[in-house]
Amino acid sequence: HTVLATLAPVPSDEIFDLNRAYARDTFPQKVSLGVGVYRTDEGKPWPLPVVEKVEKKLLEENDPSRHEYTAIEGDIPFLELARDLMFGFDGKNASAEQEEAKKRIASVQAVAGTGANHLGGLFLATHMKPKNVWLSDPSWANHMTLWEMAGVPRKTYPYYEPKTRSLDFTGMMATLEAEAQEGDVVLLHACAHNPTGLDPTKEQWMEIADLCERKQLFPFFDSAYQGFASGSVVEDAWAVRYFFQHKPHMEMCVAQSFSKNFGLYGQRVGAFHYVTTVAGVDIRDTVVNNLCHLIRGEFSMGPRGGCSIVKKVLTSDELTAEWYEDLKVMSSRIKAMRQALYKELVKLQTPGTWEHIVNQNGMFSYTGLTPAQVTALKEKYHVYLLQSGRASISGLSEKNVAYVAQAIDDVVR
Ligand code: PMP
Repeated sequence: HTVLATLAPVPSDEIFDLNRAYARDTFPQKVSLGVGVYRTDEGKPWPLPVVEKVEKKLLEENDPSRHEYTAIEGDIPFLELARDLMFGFDGKNASAEQEEAKKRIASVQAVAGTGANHLGGLFLATHMKPKNVWLSDPSWANHMTLWEMAGVPRKTYPYYEPKTRSLDFTGMMATLEAEAQEGDVVLLHACAHNPTGLDPTKEQWMEIADLCERKQLFPFFDSAYQGFASGSVVEDAWAVRYFFQHKPHMEMCVAQSFSKNFGLYGQRVGAFHYVTTVAGVDIRDTVVNNLCHLIRGEFSMGPRGGCSIVKKVLTSDELTAEWYEDLKVMSSRIKAMRQALYKELVKLQTPGTWEHIVNQNGMFSYTGLTPAQVTALKEKYHVYLLQSGRASISGLSEKNVAYVAQAIDDVVR
């Protein structure tokens, strides 16, 4: 009766190993392109100015209820704002049609994006019992873990074409068409696909939506980068909103994270939205009710601190405008670093094509570097990235980009 008899070490997480090795490295010009968090050009964390402003306000307000329990589904005004942001409802002047559409969405608070993915997986596993969940190959590694925990068999659809370093849309569609079965879940990254940085075009999203509808597949959107990727919360929500508006006869769900777009990584702010095909308060309440049952058993309710910050920002037009500016600062710096790396590689006439670096979207780039080249970058140049060749662009800066390009140039020759 001891777990120790069978307990074997879990293979360690590559990102955490990489960070540890980086932290121990004493080389002055070392560069970390591993972890997916925003960094300034000085390599520092960046609490968003609008977040700092709101934190001060909240402290001044000194609301005696600020540490109370919330409802089990979470902070309800926060959830309404989160839903409006994701699905594009006008918070103050919603049309009658929008008011009706809101009744199709059951929303609960979750422990950031990870928790929303997990809760969604558990909910579907319990109530829909899908035969399979389809993940992109590759996908965010945690998708495997949490769907395994939900007990739903995993399959993968092709996503990345190594030769051209681009999206394998034909392969993706052909596999889903031929092999996905009615009721299967298809996991889709709403924008800024992690780890490849490759997103479908709008036309391709329309085809994916048609395929899901025709084959009766269940779209599960993971939205971890709304506003962070393009700088526009509208643009980055395009796919989710398209499915919602144009496929009213299809159920779907969205796991929404506020970690990146508000820089609230450790605060664990997120929501899970389940979209039904019927606009009815009763059905919506039944979905929320069942989600609450799972929430109660797992964590009772989502955390309060970070969501108070997001709520404060999103209830004020003025603060929301300031947030949009902060999103522009982050997304512009990432885009500028993509351009800078590309320019340096072209200048060095580094063998291979590098346009994909500027064409990809969001925090990550699948560079196309081989495992041997990644190892050489680390050992010879102290530049750290994942074995798959995924680089976190936010680790680049005006100061280190020429050095990184030089290092890449050397290892690919
Ligand atoms: N999904 C994807 C694709 C992500 O990249 C991330 C962040 N790495 C998340 C979900 C969830 O992040 P969090 O739990 O910190 O909100």
